[in-house]
Amino acid sequence: MAKIIHDKEKCIGCGYCASLCPEHWEMGNDGKAHLKDGKEIKPNLFEKEVKDIGCNKQAEEHCPTHAIKIEE
Ligand code: SF4
Repeated sequence: MAKIIHDKEKCIGCGYCASLCPEHWEMGNDGKAHLKDGKEIKPNLFEKEVKDIGCNKQAEEHCPTHAIKIEE
């Protein structure tokens, strides 16, 4: 299992994650990325557990503000 973490504070809404990894990411009405099925563990901090990191790796690598983190 791995944990995907999204710090929405840092998200500038560039859309890279949603285009590179639409299975897990989409753009929300607030203009920021939304981690699908993510739980808000603190204000503006979302996480979810996944079996396979899959395309989240690309999302993490391309996020210009390092708003996406993967903990393995
Ligand atoms: S790639 Fe990063 S900054 Fe861009 S929308 Fe996704 S989380 Fe936000």
